[in-house]
Amino acid sequence: MIKKIFLFFILVLIFFISKIYAEEFVFLLDNEFNDSLVYYVYNRSEYNILINCSVHGDEDLSYKIISEFLDKGYFENQFSYANYIIVLKPSSYRLKNKSRYSLEGIDPNRTYISLLSKSSKLILKLLSDYDIDLILDLHEAGNRENIDFMYSNGFYSKFLLNFLKNYNIIYNKDNLNKLIKFEKSIEATQLKIFEQLYKNSNIRVSKYSVNNYVGGYDYASILRNYGVIRHIPTILFETVNKENKDYITNQVYYYFFENLKNYLFLFKEYKSFIPEMERNFTIYYLFDKNYDNIDILLSYLNLNKIKYYYFSKFKNLNKAKLIEYNIKNTNLKTDKIGMKGLLYSDFEIYQTEITDKSLISNYLDNSVVIPFSLLCYYLLDPNSRESLFNFNILPLNYYKLKELPVRILIIYK
Ligand SMILES: [Zn+2]
Repeated sequence: MIKKIFLFFILVLIFFISKIYAEEFVFLLDNEFNDSLVYYVYNRSEYNILINCSVHGDEDLSYKIISEFLDKGYFENQFSYANYIIVLKPSSYRLKNKSRYSLEGIDPNRTYISLLSKSSKLILKLLSDYDIDLILDLHEAGNRENIDFMYSNGFYSKFLLNFLKNYNIIYNKDNLNKLIKFEKSIEATQLKIFEQLYKNSNIRVSKYSVNNYVGGYDYASILRNYGVIRHIPTILFETVNKENKDYITNQVYYYFFENLKNYLFLFKEYKSFIPEMERNFTIYYLFDKNYDNIDILLSYLNLNKIKYYYFSKFKNLNKAKLIEYNIKNTNLKTDKIGMKGLLYSDFEIYQTEITDKSLISNYLDNSVVIPFSLLCYYLLDPNSRESLFNFNILPLNYYKLKELPVRILIIYK
């Protein structure tokens, strides 16, 4: 008898455990940015996709369509091959007022480096809390002739090559070629998928192009670029056909998610390869330890999970090159695109090489040492034009706008 009861309990237990295990979860994420709405769809997958809807409040289409997909349960059923972190409403204020700008006049999609907006901070937090494999950034753009929809990838090589060129750095060609091969195969796969969509539904999808205007799209601060600089593959979507925009966007999104399961692994492989590119650099940023606002710097490094050291012994210092930066000219700009009312300092700099080798160890002793990463380059390097100095986040009161508290150390093997 006791044996039978025991067996019964075990069966009941197995039943409940299997029930729990089969369950998918959709829940609202608690966040301190109470103006936003974020969902988490958990499908017990190894892949995590972040979907950023309508970051521009005057482009509310993706918010509407992704809401509809959520209501219909597509993410737990048809597209259950991944988990989804869905920023459905990055800001209720902007969506309600159909505004591209925040209450403070800031375009959140121009401030990922500087983190001046709440919405960009929210994304940064989600990127740090979840191991994201792919970011989808969903927008609407102006009408284009003979195109219904546009897409664009944030590719790491573009930004890395920019850095290598800036400093004349000769780099391991095999690694670089492997990186570019990844990017080409992602592109080829996407092209095939969208060609198929054209054959089946007559929807014309094209790679992103700019209409008579070169705006902020080359800037690292937009999410497509910021994501990949942080080693996460990104795709930007823009609905451009205005007449049939609901129908077209619905079709493209559905078709995209239906096919993504076949090549999501490619993004994951690409993502795990990108850090390899930074591992072989023997380049460091030396930041003056006595700089007035060192606390601000350290909090930004921590926020972005960038490692730093106070003291380091380096090999081959005799083969090192140390460059310091001086400011030739400062151009102060207000009302730069997406930064209404904020001050942006554009520096004209000149680089000098410190030739006295004995000075190098002296600088090393008095610096916060930050190993190279592309993100560091964007945050700290005066050549990047989007550094924390440009946005006045790292003020230069002590340096009186003449020199910069950062140096770059390159060690040749
Ligand atoms: Zn937009």
